[in-house]
Amino acid sequence: MAKKDFYDILGVPRDASDDDIKKAYRKLAHQHHPDKAGGEEAKFKEVNEAYQVLSHKEKRKQYDAYGHAFEGGGAPPGGGAGFGGFQWDFGGGNGEGFSDIFGDFFGFGGGRGARRKTNQGEDIQASLTIELEDSAFGREKEISLKRVVACERCHGSGAEPKSETISCTHCSGTGEVRKQFRTPFGTMAQNSICTECHGRGKVPKHKCTACNGQGIKHATDTFTVKIPQGIDSGEAFGVAGKGNAAPFGGTVGNLYVAVSIAKHPVFTRHGDDLHMKASVSISQAVFGDKVEVQTLHGAINLKVPGGIQSGTVIRVEGKGMPKRAGYGKGDLLVTVNIHTPTKLTRRQKELLEELKKENL
Ligand SMILES: [Zn+2]
Ligand SMILES: [Zn+2]
Repeated sequence: MAKKDFYDILGVPRDASDDDIKKAYRKLAHQHHPDKAGGEEAKFKEVNEAYQVLSHKEKRKQYDAYGHAFEGGGAPPGGGAGFGGFQWDFGGGNGEGFSDIFGDFFGFGGGRGARRKTNQGEDIQASLTIELEDSAFGREKEISLKRVVACERCHGSGAEPKSETISCTHCSGTGEVRKQFRTPFGTMAQNSICTECHGRGKVPKHKCTACNGQGIKHATDTFTVKIPQGIDSGEAFGVAGKGNAAPFGGTVGNLYVAVSIAKHPVFTRHGDDLHMKASVSISQAVFGDKVEVQTLHGAINLKVPGGIQSGTVIRVEGKGMPKRAGYGKGDLLVTVNIHTPTKLTRRQKELLEELKKENL
């Protein structure tokens, strides 16, 4: 299957400036973000993929020259040998990554400049099942997950306490190493962060004994997160600084929590609106009445008009879910059903027999 052209995906000309590419990407990413109303995950991924390549100077150059042949796991063009295993390295300190852009989107703030020379810890994802009430009231929930955290002994630096630092021999103190790839088109080089000093150019003379100089460890971390009010199943929210820690005291990644909401015994949700059922007796349906109904926001007296038909929906404004964007709440839609009695007293039976004679 032929892949769509990255420039077409972003809707920019082939000679678009870096700035234009970034602008186009931001616009489209916001538009298609699965978190937004009308968002679309497939489109969102497509846009991201295109941006990952076009925002990166080297990758863009190679893409311009060779097209999709350079994507990870792609089939070798023209049956070229030894090419299939080529993978883009989306990590590293060059260019602007996913979290730089989505830092803004999820409200994590900047930090773009600081990221260049330090390691960036990976963003991680988790899924969380919550109750409808958790979303309605923006409650706090405990979450427990495995992630990379900073080593306690060296506070993430990787150095034994009080150890001095020396120049890294692996990269001669530059913090970068040049990797070469052999491809059917010739040899290509890519700079990547030195794996020994993690871009610092310096290493501790004595490595921390607790983490062997990595500055990080794997741990199960338990903490509370605040559920964004009004969040719906299939949406996600970000938690800054709860992703993976990076070696050598780099920037900690972010956590993205995908939410699913457990089935509620009373309410079903449609966007910001909640639907529920209520039943009234035959006489209430005929004469009308006020019926007490438990909403998510307390009890109300639902006004049932006389002569109501079974299945009629009564809308109660502002008793639904809080709106995620902006203020206010959705509505509560109550489907009123008429309860047909199955057990009758003798008197009730007599009265109904009388009604029957009147064709009621
Ligand atoms: Zn350590
Ligand atoms: Zn190094």
